[in-house]
Amino acid sequence: MAEEGLRVEAISPIIASAPLGPSRRRYANAAARIATPLAPLVLLALLQTLETRFGRVRRGQRWGARTLDLDIVLWSGGSWRSKTLTVPHPRFRERLFVLTPAAAVAADWHDPAGTCTIRHLHARLTRPRPTPR
Ligand code: ATP
Ligand code: CA
Ligand code: CA
Repeated sequence: MAEEGLRVEAISPIIASAPLGPSRRRYANAAARIATPLAPLVLLALLQTLETRFGRVRRGQRWGARTLDLDIVLWSGGSWRSKTLTVPHPRFRERLFVLTPAAAVAADWHDPAGTCTIRHLHARLTRPRPTPR
């Protein structure tokens, strides 16, 4: 990816997860920690180009089946909010299929919206809870 302006620093193991929404396929999930000089919106455009290159067709249906989905989960610059990009990813805190691989590559990164690290957020979702009687 060096030619794209991305340097991959770490890649997580791949985990399988059930789909969200209408898609009936299972998905392979992974996280990468990358270094890049690209601005967030330029990075988003590049990720969408890579999705297209992998055969993804955007049909306008949310959470439809897709060959590749590349999201920006966290950014070392903190938060970003514009019409087409919100970082941190608004739903990453409740997604084990994001937090598990993310913890493998960036366990000590902080959620800029609070004091939690990825490790904390992951532990919060996996901690055993008493079942209601
Ligand atoms: P989800 O957001 O629940 O993971 P999704 O990844 O399936 O859903 P997409 O259809 O791939 O959603 O993307 C919809 C739009 O989300 C993109 O066109 C992009 O502009 C926007 N978007 C906002 N924040 C982000 C982000 N952090 N990473 C990637 N895309 C984002
Ligand atoms: Ca997504
Ligand atoms: Ca996406």
